[in-house]
Amino acid sequence: MTDTPILLTPGPLTTRIETRRAMLRDWGSRDPAFIALTAELRERLLAVAKGEGTHVAVPLQGSGTFIVEAALATLLGRGSKLLVLCNGAYGERMVAIARRLGHAAEALRWPEHRPVEPERVAAALREDPAITHVALVHCETTTGLLNPLPAVAAVVAEAGRHLLLDAMSSFGAIAIDLSVLPVAAVLASSNKCLEGVPGIGFALIERRLLDAAAGNGPSTSLDLHAQWHGFEKDGQWRFTPPVQVVAALVEALRLLDAEGGPPARLARYADNLAVLLAGMRRLGFELFLEEAVQAPVIATFRLPADGSLPFGRFYDALAARGFLIYPGKLTQAETFRIGCIGALDRQDFARLIEAVAAVLGEVRSASAA
Ligand SMILES: *Cc1c(COP(=O)(O)O)cnc(C)c1O
Repeated sequence: MTDTPILLTPGPLTTRIETRRAMLRDWGSRDPAFIALTAELRERLLAVAKGEGTHVAVPLQGSGTFIVEAALATLLGRGSKLLVLCNGAYGERMVAIARRLGHAAEALRWPEHRPVEPERVAAALREDPAITHVALVHCETTTGLLNPLPAVAAVVAEAGRHLLLDAMSSFGAIAIDLSVLPVAAVLASSNKCLEGVPGIGFALIERRLLDAAAGNGPSTSLDLHAQWHGFEKDGQWRFTPPVQVVAALVEALRLLDAEGGPPARLARYADNLAVLLAGMRRLGFELFLEEAVQAPVIATFRLPADGSLPFGRFYDALAARGFLIYPGKLTQAETFRIGCIGALDRQDFARLIEAVAAVLGEVRSASAA
């Protein structure tokens, strides 16, 4: 086992050595070199989703939840009402954030294993003309379920409402083409499919929508309109930027380009998932979701129903072999999760399957003794 474990998690995740090396220098936050790096960051983020013609990129210090909260605080105004399409914990979190900010917010819910249904969204929007914004979680990291973004975006646009997309665990791998998809704001962070290190959330927001959002936010540090104006004024961050995280993210974005962009990354993750699924099934594990709605981001498996493998024991045994897995986050079933994202390929997953097989062998011989 090396010092660096293999992170089979939805972020922070395994990063490339080049990305980590990009953090080995100091930057003056007001220096032209760092201003140029910030400009490159903002351009590259927009380019990943083809938003150059319509959207602006606004990075913010903090984790993904900070950008979700900042976007809701900035884009919801007086008289706004948010409908959140919920089939997991991240949708529920958006409802809680919007309400805590004092906004009207409702949830339209599906079970955790079921995708959002565009027809039900259309009906809800017909029934309640007060709804101004709709929020969707692209990939629900709770389970790994992929929601039908193009169909939901079409329904929301048809009804004349604004779609806010939590693309935290999809951005950089699963296609989001803002030149054709009507999405008002895309929210994501540095440490998931972009394979950067944690510390930055960012929003790609329709320029005219952000323009109209001046003064909405009750918060100073989470005001994305003011954050945007800061960048536009002098190219600088308003408050101390996480300079090394910016440098790592720019390097990670260059590496994404070199890999062939989101389609190539998606293909690698899909290959990871295929090796993982085949191996885990051979070892008797059952995937929680139907494969048709499973995104190649994170897979949820049921723990053995006989209780022979409690999560803590499984985790420790795999960690001792250099693999860090992730606990389940479901309300109804005993599960664990294995991420397919990060700087990993099919060989890493083949080695993981060998490690899981070895752990199962240990558990069986211990219980036979
Ligand atoms: C990771 C994630 C977030 C943000 O989580 P943080 O822990 O704040 O980074 C939000 N939504 C989804 C779908 C996520 O996967």
